[in-house]
Amino acid sequence: MISAIQAAPLPQPHSKSWSAAQSHALEVLTEQLTLSTEQLDMLANEFVRQMRTGLAVSDTSDLAMIPTYVTGRPNGTERGCYLALDLGGTNLRVCLITLKGGHELETQQRMFKVSQELQEAEVSKLMEFIALSIKDFLARDHINATLVEHASDSDRLEMGFTFSFPVSQTAIDAGMLLRWTKGFSCAGAVGHDIVHLLQTALDQNDVKVHVAALVNDTVGTLLAHAYTYPNTCLGAIFGTGTNGAYLENTKNVPKLKTTAQEMVINIEWGNFDKDKTVLPVTIYDNKVDRESINPGLQVFEKMISGMYLGEITRNVLLHLIDQRLLFDGKSSTVLNRQWGLEAATMSAIEDDKSPNLIPTSQILESALDIGLHTLADREIVQRVCHLVGQRAARLSAMATAAVIRQGLSGSTGGDSSGILREYRHVLRAGGDESRVQDSTEALVEPIHVGIDGSVFEHYPGFRAAMNQTLEELLGPAAARVVRLETTKDGSGVGAALAALMAHKDAMAARK
Ligand code: ADP
Ligand code: MG
Repeated sequence: MISAIQAAPLPQPHSKSWSAAQSHALEVLTEQLTLSTEQLDMLANEFVRQMRTGLAVSDTSDLAMIPTYVTGRPNGTERGCYLALDLGGTNLRVCLITLKGGHELETQQRMFKVSQELQEAEVSKLMEFIALSIKDFLARDHINATLVEHASDSDRLEMGFTFSFPVSQTAIDAGMLLRWTKGFSCAGAVGHDIVHLLQTALDQNDVKVHVAALVNDTVGTLLAHAYTYPNTCLGAIFGTGTNGAYLENTKNVPKLKTTAQEMVINIEWGNFDKDKTVLPVTIYDNKVDRESINPGLQVFEKMISGMYLGEITRNVLLHLIDQRLLFDGKSSTVLNRQWGLEAATMSAIEDDKSPNLIPTSQILESALDIGLHTLADREIVQRVCHLVGQRAARLSAMATAAVIRQGLSGSTGGDSSGILREYRHVLRAGGDESRVQDSTEALVEPIHVGIDGSVFEHYPGFRAAMNQTLEELLGPAAARVVRLETTKDGSGVGAALAALMAHKDAMAARK
């Protein structure tokens, strides 16, 4: 039962150098920003409920639960040469990935800058640029023709395409662009199949490459991690934004008609509880949301991801300043400006373990142009960063635990359709069936979670707080059974693996 779980110790809200009013304000903030095990358990149950709603019918849940048509995961024995293409921002990356089996691989890559002009050009111009970049990469980097021959039976190289824009996917190699984001606005693309547009450009420019798979970066993370750790159940991003993709039994996906037994589902979890019915949003979160370009959407993402952590913290600090509880009531132009405080700055402040917080003093000066401050001020800033960072880590673990719970219990909670059903005796599924007879030190193969993103990788204590929270939500066995690890190059290696799997499926279907 929940009460038996070792809960995270509440951060100590007091410091000797604080006034009574400062101590009180920090106590209130601690209360608002600290999520108890019970709260997170309730959120995880709601997360699972929204997952199942999203799996049942399209457009009924905050969680889109998008089928990716990736019907399985690699196990590290895969071999061959595959191209990967990554378009997500100002750089286009072309990679040749040589999978050597035995979990080994090699990567050759080049970056090409996508000019602002191209980002706003006709889509045929953009696609021509991509095709010619690939041609240039293959020619200039002397990609070995014989090596390449092993890639497929045809004379074309198979390629996976990581395209980080909103797409409605209808097959592994077909997806319609819903809208451009991040400064792109190429005419003639929205409403069209992005794979078809690229394949046309490749063919017209005599580039012998076949676009075999279109993948989202979260899916790529899952696949790339599975090449090293085959028992990977989830790929997650904790970077600028946040999202997760996991392997599901298709029996649990009523909205999908398929003969495949398993499929990777892109959860789009940044949008969890967009109406704020269960998430304990504060006035600081509401302000971030209201002033964002997409109010009322991606509310969960706005409590967790790198783009927003600084902004939440900035709002808290300004509120303290306005009560004259911080910096003697004085702010700076930088701190007053939206996005004026970055997550990396919070990281640096949290890293400061010195007694008088002299490094923090330098950071306040250089990053925020705050020159006058006391030790009490610095301690308060550090405490606020800690509260916001810990909350993000605990919510990130909540989503991770929810996906694992879905794997434990499957569609209705009682049947055996969950992909992680063998772990039901060691991990707590939540809801009505919280009983686990753990204590058994039975040897079980660890469940791996592949994670990409600077927040997970660099934020001090983020990983430790996630691990602690997983234990609270899944039981003590989580510490040895669930492994959170950084995944490198999901958009390259993951795309190559998607191309390989799609190509194999296509060959099998032809036979
Ligand atoms: P992306 O998600 O765009 O692929 P990243 O994974 O590098 O890229 O994440 C970028 C985000 O991480 C930015 O929002 C940035 O503020 C944040 N970030 C960068 N460095 C750090 C750091 N040292 N600590 C915490 N957050 C960071
Ligand atoms: Mg990334």
